[in-house]
Amino acid sequence: MAVGPDFEQSETGESKMASVEQVQSVEQPRASEHGAIPAPAGIPVENPATGETVATVADLDRDAVAQLAARARAAQPGWESYGFDGRARIMLRAQKWLMDNADQVIATIVSETGKTFEDASLAEISYAGNAFGFWAKHAGEYLGDERVKSAQLLVKGKKLIVRYRPLGLIGVIGPWNYPLTNSFGDCIPALMAGNSVILKPSEVTPLTSLLMAEGLRECGLPEHVFGVATGRGETGAALVEQVDMIMFTGSTRTGRKVAEAAARRLIPASLELGGKDPMIVLSDADLERAANFATYYSMQNAGQTCISIERVYVEEPVYDEFVQKVSEKVRALRVGKPEGPGSVDVGAITFPPQLQTIEDHVTDAVDKGARVLAGGHSKPGPGRFYEPTVLVDVDHTMKCMTEETFGPTLPIMKVADAEEAVRLANDSPYGLGSSVFTRDTERGEQIARRIDAGAANVNDAMINYTALELPMGGAKASGLGSRHGAGGIRKYTSQQAIVVTPKLALKREPHMYPYKARNSRLLAGLFKLLYGRGRRD
Ligand code: NDP
Repeated sequence: MAVGPDFEQSETGESKMASVEQVQSVEQPRASEHGAIPAPAGIPVENPATGETVATVADLDRDAVAQLAARARAAQPGWESYGFDGRARIMLRAQKWLMDNADQVIATIVSETGKTFEDASLAEISYAGNAFGFWAKHAGEYLGDERVKSAQLLVKGKKLIVRYRPLGLIGVIGPWNYPLTNSFGDCIPALMAGNSVILKPSEVTPLTSLLMAEGLRECGLPEHVFGVATGRGETGAALVEQVDMIMFTGSTRTGRKVAEAAARRLIPASLELGGKDPMIVLSDADLERAANFATYYSMQNAGQTCISIERVYVEEPVYDEFVQKVSEKVRALRVGKPEGPGSVDVGAITFPPQLQTIEDHVTDAVDKGARVLAGGHSKPGPGRFYEPTVLVDVDHTMKCMTEETFGPTLPIMKVADAEEAVRLANDSPYGLGSSVFTRDTERGEQIARRIDAGAANVNDAMINYTALELPMGGAKASGLGSRHGAGGIRKYTSQQAIVVTPKLALKREPHMYPYKARNSRLLAGLFKLLYGRGRRD
């Protein structure tokens, strides 16, 4: 299958860059015949499940990013003129392209993240497939002109419109845990809103973004409307200096830097940052379901999901049974190099420093008195793996309960009652996702409303992310703004208020010069009539 000149698919399913001339023909070092970039301009991309280098990509400097931006800006008005229908046509073609090329996209994701085929398929292909269709269908509805009525006397008889206009050039900076969903996924609504977009993927996982750029080009997206700026953190920082709005997903630490840089330029920033999602299990919960959900949503994607279940609070009467069920399920998980669908349950640790963070959190917990009921160690190489791990006898003095672990670990804490569970769930700088398990769904909803998090699921977890109609964003240090829903596309636009006065209008309106006592009294009387009638408390 051909997806353009930049990739070759090896028999093992690994992607190779045959050329690093980016999707845009920015001047940069040419690839050698073997696809290698002369050092120091190239960044090697490693397969975390094998330790092998699968590709090398260009490390764009400030000038290259500025060139990309200039070309993207020049292309934007033409793209905007396609209108919602024209843009939707290309996105729907891209949806079909993704489904036709799903095997290659999955192989590329797996080769740079080390995740399982199922994690790539369920949480990435299905997300992007849905997102192409969703934004193609709903962009016009969310961004179409809105006629509004006003109670204000001074605008009576005029036509009032709220218009959403594209901001121009959007920068998207993405993390390594979901190269398709979290990096490329945010580009879809930005493009549907009529913007040009430059995506800066994580230096660890740039290949999926480059492949998607090839796909969009094949589907007829005009040249330079979408660009991929491969590089390190400096490339991301250079991108913030060029764009009209920045969408960032990653750590709270880097998110703060991005927000500061955006503030200096007075451009909007939308930030999806870290999380420490709590799960609460009440004593009337369906324990088998709760144990399955705790196991799956803490270990899926090897725990490297911003809305993974990172800590569990269980009411005392069902604590022992819940812990036993979860421990058995976690011990049964197969961890290792993904060889194909169904080969393993838990894949690799994508980001090299993450392994130290996971080891540090487990060691810290054990040093402070926690017990390990499953796993507890990294696996010897090749590749980077950590055993699916269950920790008990944990408390909030331990890092595993308060800091983002972002790995296949599940600390479980016994609580006296729901009140203690809610207090501990909220005892966190983060507030991204959360879940409550109980057979009393009304009570579950009441508890969900008391959790300081951008999302709360009752008898489920993480699933809110898949409903693109719902806003997805964080409270507290988990971010600003949201993706999905009306706000998830309106953030890529500026609002313009348009007021049209009909041609048959007075030459001079009553509030204008010259001020006359009679007119002023008349207007004051009218204001009183409008706003001063009726009794108040
Ligand atoms: P970062 O926040 O450091 O990186 C996210 C993206 O920002 C990457 O593309 C990165 O580039 C880029 N970047 C780095 N520095 C800058 C800068 N100064 N200006 C603009 N862009 C910049 O996350 P990491 O990948 O280092 O992961 C660190 C931690 O973040 C993890 O341990 C995890 O806890 C959390 N995380 C949260 C995610 C989420 O979904 N909310 C996703 C991933 C990680 P580059 O990768 O090339 O350095």
